[in-house]
Amino acid sequence: MAFSTHRLRRLLRPVIAPVRLRIRRALLRCVPKAVVLNYHRVADLPGYPYRLVVEPGRFEQHMLFLKRHYRLISMGELVAFIGEGRIPPLSVVVTFDDGYADVFENALPILTRHDIPATVFIISGAVGDSGELWWDRLERVASAACNGGEETIALDGGSPEDSWVIEPGTKQQKLRNIIRPRLLQLSNIRQRAVLDQWYDQLGLKATARPEHRFMSQQEVEEMAKSPGIEIGAHTVSHPHLAAFPVEKQTVEIRGSRETLRAITGQDVEYFSYPYGGAGTYSQETIHAVADAGFVVGCTTYHEPVLPGSPILEMARCNAHNWDVSEFHRRLDGFFLSPVCPRVGTGGGVV
Ligand SMILES: [Zn+2]
Repeated sequence: MAFSTHRLRRLLRPVIAPVRLRIRRALLRCVPKAVVLNYHRVADLPGYPYRLVVEPGRFEQHMLFLKRHYRLISMGELVAFIGEGRIPPLSVVVTFDDGYADVFENALPILTRHDIPATVFIISGAVGDSGELWWDRLERVASAACNGGEETIALDGGSPEDSWVIEPGTKQQKLRNIIRPRLLQLSNIRQRAVLDQWYDQLGLKATARPEHRFMSQQEVEEMAKSPGIEIGAHTVSHPHLAAFPVEKQTVEIRGSRETLRAITGQDVEYFSYPYGGAGTYSQETIHAVADAGFVVGCTTYHEPVLPGSPILEMARCNAHNWDVSEFHRRLDGFFLSPVCPRVGTGGGVV
């Protein structure tokens, strides 16, 4: 019987794969690199359409795995290591974006229990707000408008660009994907006005559903006082910064720093760009962030951080609701990712 190379490779795979993994991990242990992980929400939210929710049990598994196999450091320590030109291998920084109350309720006790440092980037205008953020409001609109009825629904946002006719049978995800790019380009005032009109037309209540509320001022204060927790700014209203003139960007960037300083009584030195990927911020944005006094600007380039990495365009990797083996695989992938050119290096990313 002919014994093909393909078959031999398949038979040897269970033996070779763990050896290969061990070699990769041994190499990683020698390389000065960090990965900054980015979480958003820690909650049990079955059916939530956005992928940025991690179940509390899974989150705790991630943290325990990191404690066991990596070196957990704070953002402040990472900045100091970058300044010294050395990063301890397998360093990991934990961060959160937005400032949902579930981070206070579910993630903070886990971080405290296991003594894990973290930076929480907060949308200052959402602190204590009784409403929901625009993408959660959009989810409600899509859910109400695609309710399976036989009627055609007209959403009138006050201009032809903000008005949509929804035929029976339209899928919620399809509707969200159509409307989302339009809402993304609007100022927060216009966004709110359009969504308010749609809410009225669909008979939806403006108050936040408890599971989608943001941290209150008291919760942010308490979070800031927790050992190992650093508060960072994430603008006032989470705009797509690059879509707006620099004056508006500056108001968003400085405003969030000032409000969070007033709430926490602490200096706020770290910033994260809303959405954070290529095209969501510009060279002007980076200057505005530096001029406002921030020392770090976090992106969502899924790459490792190296000793010479630009700290105003710090790479960060989104973490999802992975089980531990997938989490492990993804972390290895983040550590081994190539580094892309940045806006600030003239690399033409935008
Ligand atoms: Zn965000």
